Amino acid sequence: MRRPIIAGNWKANLTLREAAALAQQLTRSCETAAADVVICPPFTALAAVAPLLTGSRIGLGAQDVFWEPAGAFTGEVTPPMLVDLGCRYVIVGHSERRTHFGESDEAVGRKLRAALAHGLAPIVCIGETLAQREAGETMDVLTRQLEGALSGCPPDTCRRLILAYEPVWAIGTGKHATPEQAQEAHQAIRRWVAQHCGPEEGQAVRIQYGGSVTAANAAGLLQQPDVDGALVGGASLKADAFVAIVQAAASVAASTKPKAVV
Ligand code: PEP
Repeated sequence: MRRPIIAGNWKANLTLREAAALAQQLTRSCETAAADVVICPPFTALAAVAPLLTGSRIGLGAQDVFWEPAGAFTGEVTPPMLVDLGCRYVIVGHSERRTHFGESDEAVGRKLRAALAHGLAPIVCIGETLAQREAGETMDVLTRQLEGALSGCPPDTCRRLILAYEPVWAIGTGKHATPEQAQEAHQAIRRWVAQHCGPEEGQAVRIQYGGSVTAANAAGLLQQPDVDGALVGGASLKADAFVAIVQAAASVAASTKPKAVV
């Protein structure tokens, strides 16, 4: 069965004190056995948040990673550093990194392979812009991003990573994909994984939806058969909103039949 996974991307927000306070609120109210819960604070807060999660079910993730293990790469943070801090997850290829920092599909692939090599579970973001959607290019874009990220990976890679379908037009805009739009894209992504990595990998891979997920729209999205969780930006900065999304995932998991048996 694919376990739902809800991840919070705190982006470049929160001081140390604020990050610690939010992490503490979440450890008090976000415990569920029905879903994996991950928080991705900024690099500066990882060391402070990590001990606060000890003994909780909440996993720690970073928002980016460099592909080399160490060396003369000023400003970069490497996979062994993240492992040392207690991270189990790392976001790679977020659209904000692709757009503002020129991150290419090839760079995303290098980061993904480096994360996997060090035992981190990458959350790999893919998604089309509004212009690409309107031009009917959504699947071409997703295919190119999937190929860029996964080329050179062994076929069994997909069960060790999480894909996040994040239409760029939905990120931080308050305009989320409809459940039908999300399902259509997720189904196509799963089909691509099945064709390129094998049918079992297609069934096993978890695909999150990201883009203006809130407590109000989470259940409708998570009920879709190929939507296995959410990557949450803005709403993850407020404990109540994030907890409500986690609760929505837990209720959907309890009320629907398992999404796949692998
Ligand atoms: C994100 O940052 O990945 C994201 C989906 O942001 P938001 O939820 O704010 O749209």
